[in-house]
Amino acid sequence: FVKFSDVQKTYDGDTLVVKKLNLDIARGEFLTLLGPSGSGKTTTLMMLAGFEVPTQGRILLEGRPIDNLPPHKRDIGMVFQNYALFPHMTVEENLAFPLKVRKLSKMETETRIKRALDMVQLGAYGKRLPGQLSGGQQQRVALARALCFDPKLVLMDEPLGALDKQLRDQMQLEIRHIHKALGVTIVYVTHDQGEALTMSDRVAVFNDGLIQQLGSPADLYEQPQNAFVAQFVGDNN
Ligand code: ATP
Repeated sequence: FVKFSDVQKTYDGDTLVVKKLNLDIARGEFLTLLGPSGSGKTTTLMMLAGFEVPTQGRILLEGRPIDNLPPHKRDIGMVFQNYALFPHMTVEENLAFPLKVRKLSKMETETRIKRALDMVQLGAYGKRLPGQLSGGQQQRVALARALCFDPKLVLMDEPLGALDKQLRDQMQLEIRHIHKALGVTIVYVTHDQGEALTMSDRVAVFNDGLIQQLGSPADLYEQPQNAFVAQFVGDNN
């Protein structure tokens, strides 16, 4: 469904932030990029989204190279740690934005917004401004906005990083539930091994710009392929 083929990325001409990345992502899977800060996870996600260009190699989406497609033509929904909602727009207007860009009719837009808000249990909050919502509610709005245009792929970069532990646990379950219900492909970035192991179908462990191991949570936990994976995945703090 998505294929990274020998993808490399340097920012300043010499440091390789992503080194020779080969990765196949299956349709409908929940794949997590797990690794310490600076290991190249976000850069990988940004190349897939189209906000960064690979220095070498190519990325295919459904068999087609996407190098020349701008972000808004890639049909990808995104959720960030800091929500990135428009503060002066109501919840409904925030959700309407990606639908307007895609020129959906008014009726279709309204139906999609209602469906997406109901899915994240915010049906009654459409007229509020983001500033009038809690952090967890704002992140649900961001999630609804990323899903309401039926994207091919949803990318999430530390989406729960700003939330407290209890809310994070609850949102992990909700995101898993939504993933199962919609069957959408999700690529999720976190440095939290517990989160990666609980949520994912497969996990790619990153360190120093390289995938150290790619496998199911059970594979990584029971058969780590090197000392880094054993230490990072086994660390419960
Ligand atoms: P984090 O969890 O801290 O975001 P990460 O694994 O997502 O870490 P990246 O954000 O991909 O890692 O960063 C990898 C390396 O690339 C880091 O050393 C970072 O300083 C560098 N880097 C990231 N973005 C840029 C940029 N726009 N210009 C120059 N260097 C960058």
